[in-house]
Amino acid sequence: MNAIRTTCAYCGVGCGIAATVTGEREVTIAGDPEHPANRGSLCSKGTHLGETVGLEGRLLNPEIGGKRTSWDRAIRHVARKFADTIARHGPDSVAFYVSGQLLTEDYYVANKLMKGFIGSANIDTNSRLCMASAVAGHVRAFGEDVVPVSYDDLDQADLIVLVGSNTAWCHPVIYQRIMAARAARGTKLVVIDPRRTETCEGADLHLKLRPGSDVALMNGLLAYCSDNGVLDRAFLGQSVLEPEGFWDNLQHGGDLWSTAATCDVTPADLRALYDMFARTPRTVTLFSQGINQSLCGTDQVNAIINVHLATGRIGKPGAGPFSITGQPNAMGGREVGGLASTLAAHRDFAPENVEEVGRFWAAPRMATSPGLKAVDLFRAVGEGRIKALWIMATNPAVSLPDAGKVRDALAGCPFVVVSDCVADTDTTRFAHVKLPATAWGEKDGTVTNSERTISRQRALFAAPGEARPDWWIVTQVARAMGWRNAFAYDRPADIYREHARLSTYRNDSARLFDIGAHAGLTNAAYDALEPFRWGGVPFAHGRFPTPDGKARLVSVQQAPLGKSLPKWPFTLNTGRYRDQWHTMTRTGLSPKLSQHRREPLVEMHPLDAEMHGIDEGDLVRVATPQGESMFRATIASTQRRGEIFAPIHWTDRQSSGGRAGLLPQPLVDPHSGQPGFKATPARVEKLAFEWRGFLIARTLPDPVTAEYFTKVRVGQGWLVELAGNGDPALLAKALLPRGERAENVDRARGNLRIAVLSGSRLAAALYLTRDGKLPDRDWLIGQLAVATSPSSVELLAGRPTALLPDRGPIVCACFDVGLKTIVEAIGSQRLIDVAAVGQALSAGTNCGSCRPAIARLIGECREAALG
Ligand code: SF4
Repeated sequence: MNAIRTTCAYCGVGCGIAATVTGEREVTIAGDPEHPANRGSLCSKGTHLGETVGLEGRLLNPEIGGKRTSWDRAIRHVARKFADTIARHGPDSVAFYVSGQLLTEDYYVANKLMKGFIGSANIDTNSRLCMASAVAGHVRAFGEDVVPVSYDDLDQADLIVLVGSNTAWCHPVIYQRIMAARAARGTKLVVIDPRRTETCEGADLHLKLRPGSDVALMNGLLAYCSDNGVLDRAFLGQSVLEPEGFWDNLQHGGDLWSTAATCDVTPADLRALYDMFARTPRTVTLFSQGINQSLCGTDQVNAIINVHLATGRIGKPGAGPFSITGQPNAMGGREVGGLASTLAAHRDFAPENVEEVGRFWAAPRMATSPGLKAVDLFRAVGEGRIKALWIMATNPAVSLPDAGKVRDALAGCPFVVVSDCVADTDTTRFAHVKLPATAWGEKDGTVTNSERTISRQRALFAAPGEARPDWWIVTQVARAMGWRNAFAYDRPADIYREHARLSTYRNDSARLFDIGAHAGLTNAAYDALEPFRWGGVPFAHGRFPTPDGKARLVSVQQAPLGKSLPKWPFTLNTGRYRDQWHTMTRTGLSPKLSQHRREPLVEMHPLDAEMHGIDEGDLVRVATPQGESMFRATIASTQRRGEIFAPIHWTDRQSSGGRAGLLPQPLVDPHSGQPGFKATPARVEKLAFEWRGFLIARTLPDPVTAEYFTKVRVGQGWLVELAGNGDPALLAKALLPRGERAENVDRARGNLRIAVLSGSRLAAALYLTRDGKLPDRDWLIGQLAVATSPSSVELLAGRPTALLPDRGPIVCACFDVGLKTIVEAIGSQRLIDVAAVGQALSAGTNCGSCRPAIARLIGECREAALG
């Protein structure tokens, strides 16, 4: 069987995958050794993509009002509703909210329909939440949204500075490349992050700075470079416009000691960073959500770019500022103009651009100014200004800040269309029309990764049920609205060729984004398209896509730093887990991936926990002015005092309260419109439930009713963590299936244990306690898979009669190696590095995502041994 070369569904690294279809909805996944992004490597998420391609939970038929309908009816209904709304209230009364999960061809037609034919720019994307500040920063500095660096530069750099990026978890293959560069050529690594994440393991320096003080740190670095003769005066003179007063503003109050105080780091550490940077021309500064997801994200981006422009460290091998995107095709969306603030093909809304694009599209009604950005767009839905909304491939009821208000807005919107591959999400519940879209394994088109490499995504399976590609759905609606000729595409290649033509149309080298060489690609050539990076080495000749050819230094000042308030003593930061993706609609299907973190945890500093009477494993309520959610507390000295961290992934579908999206404030950066997710005032309160426990079950009970629950996939079933009040027997009645039962109810001690058999197999087991101990979950989970259940004595004890080693929580998902196994092996076998642990236990030898965690365990064991 030949492998199909495609790309990973998840992050912006854009790894190539060699997928071998082995059966109906079955596929073996391997890294594509030929792909320039990953050269055969994959992280845990990519490695386990094969577990997510089944049809469980898929939306397979169009629905109107919750009832199955035909495509023909659904298309006509959507077209008529949009046309009526536009006729009565104007083009700005409708909107599309799209996604970095769409392919470029999907994005292109959605953007063309809204901006050229409906005549509004009310199309925005969930990429607004992840990299809009980088886009705005690039445009301010370079004149065009161009990422000036590639992954090859990471291989060639002598110093890599990671700012606001937990690369080891969020872009693991990039982290592996960095580690490889360190091993091969001794590349130095500095991490600037308020949290000590696993990315810091093995770094030469970690600056645990005060959140939001990045502008002070970068301005201080630039002042240091200026004072120490590190500026590239020739490059500045030739290629960079320095605004009047720029250097005076920069020096204002910026000596190293006061900068260190502002950033809350030691002067020695700050000087170490500045010295390293000053003496290392080949430096890449890679940044991600810690920079972008801020109320001053664009200024933070420009503070980083300023340093690179002023030192001439851009357009050269191994040097430059590098924004790495969160989503697989955020960059493709930027290229087509799928943001409300851009028009198409890297053009803005300048009148000549509107005229050019209108002419190219033969558009009857061009949008002439930017539309509503994500947060404002949903505010407009809530205020009744948007009356018809089409959401494609995203889950804003969970992912937008102040998600409770977003739900209210959706509930009140007269007409909501959702096209998605998943039937039941927190967002589809508000849909008047649901349109079944193809999923990753069925999609065909192109994506662009963080380094501007365009790759083919290829279908592995035929579309199931009546699912259709997003480009097809949009095109059909556009035709039904009367624009048949303008949307007469038969295949993605037709759209790609038009996109390529538009990129080069009247370009005359004004914009770097120009893939006009592909405008005449045949269908066969499109099918065989190899990954290629557009733009070459941007700015290599010191020319920038501005009217005068010069880049801009942008004068930015450190914004006042927030103080903790008596009512809201904590600052909440939200982000990703290593093995989950967004709202878990895909990764949540994988038992392997669920092992890494089985519940949403809120991480807090030990002294904060002590002050609030919170112990490891307690359930807590995290409240902000926007709402409240429940998490299990974990005590982590990796957090700064007063700062807590919670994951973004859990939704109402997987939990009763672990939805972090309800908590952030709906405030945005003034330039980019990107919301700040990293610094929400919050408070934490310990929750007292009468009992706690867990259920394992081959089939998930529906609904799960408990004050607190979270559910995750495990091999052959589900694990549901529970806590609540009242009579546990009632819960047992509600959750457990019929069947032969073994019970142990100890009212005096407040323990309830019930196992239910179906034939010879374990069907489900419930363990509840008031204040006692609960059995180890892993052995019990394993019993769901065996053909003959262990004895009822063993099931009720929650362990086999013969003692089993306790592995602890899983660290290596590929080989199921637990934390306690690793720690034991480090001590008993004197394992001194990650490679030695790999040799002894195989842990970390497949995808490598757990290597930073293993490095951290080795460090902790070493510290413990030293006393
Ligand atoms: S780093 Fe992991 S999640 Fe990201 S593209 Fe590569 S395999 Fe996929």
